[in-house]
Amino acid sequence: NGAILKIEGLKTYFKTKTGYVKAVDGVSLYVPNQMVVGVAGESGSGKSTLINTIFRVLSKNAEIKGGEVLYQDRDILKMDEESFSKKIRWKEISWIPQVSMDVLDPVYKVKDQMVETILAHEDTSKAEALERVYSMIKSVNLRPEVLEKYPHELSGGQKQRVVIAMALLLDPKLVIADEPTTALDVIVQAQIIDIIRKLKKEKNFSMLFVSHDLALLAGLSDYLAIMYAGKIVEFGKVEEIYKAPSHPYTQLLLESIPDIRKRGSKLKSISGSPPDLLNPPSGCRFNPRCPFAMDVCKSVEPEIVNVSPTHYVACHLRK
Ligand code: SF4
Ligand code: MG
Repeated sequence: NGAILKIEGLKTYFKTKTGYVKAVDGVSLYVPNQMVVGVAGESGSGKSTLINTIFRVLSKNAEIKGGEVLYQDRDILKMDEESFSKKIRWKEISWIPQVSMDVLDPVYKVKDQMVETILAHEDTSKAEALERVYSMIKSVNLRPEVLEKYPHELSGGQKQRVVIAMALLLDPKLVIADEPTTALDVIVQAQIIDIIRKLKKEKNFSMLFVSHDLALLAGLSDYLAIMYAGKIVEFGKVEEIYKAPSHPYTQLLLESIPDIRKRGSKLKSISGSPPDLLNPPSGCRFNPRCPFAMDVCKSVEPEIVNVSPTHYVACHLRK
């Protein structure tokens, strides 16, 4: 099968007056072909930074300090901006951001913006592009009238559907999503997730989906990655993680959810607060909050070890 995306030792830091915020600090993970990988973590764990690094939409004070992002075995961090935006962004890898205004330009009608997106990337006629726009808008359950509107004339749910339609317009092989439903109410959230699930089935793209909502992710994903304080602490198939969570943080997250496949249940807050990524704890970053912390946890960072061929964990208890 193989992996469409492989991230190796990625470090994305933000330069501030008082030092570097280590938002993504040595992340490795992969997205197997045509699979959905969900990344779960509290806010401030580095999820959005991970997504923004892949799509190359980082803020100016961000610095990539190490690692690789291999898309179909090619390091996309090494590409120049022009070829990345021509060949990869939207066409091969597309993005569903949390805030639709990151994608929708307020001065264009939805239709014009979508047609432009096609014409900017493909050698096709305007009529053909328009036909595709109509069919895409239909497949996210929107009426064609929406195409004549400006983004501010749409509801939050409609906007997010347009963003999904935009993301899938050029038939990308990989979709990366950053909490695309978080700002919406529960009913609209469920509708949006159903649309994503339906489109995934039809178009068979691969997906990396980050969220703080583990229950939502479990219902959508084939694999789960658990992110804590800039690192992936556990990765595996959903069933493996659900049946045998191997990192204390994952165990606490799962205990907080009565039914993992039920939507809408939020992560219970775990006692203690997420660490400051300017000065993260030494050793295992979870040690100040971990009920099983040992002396070694305060000084030595645990290595990633496999507990099955598809399941790995970083914790001194699993050696
Ligand atoms: Fe807890 Fe130590 Fe494992 Fe970290 S390495 S999760 S502190 S037991
Ligand atoms: Mg975020």
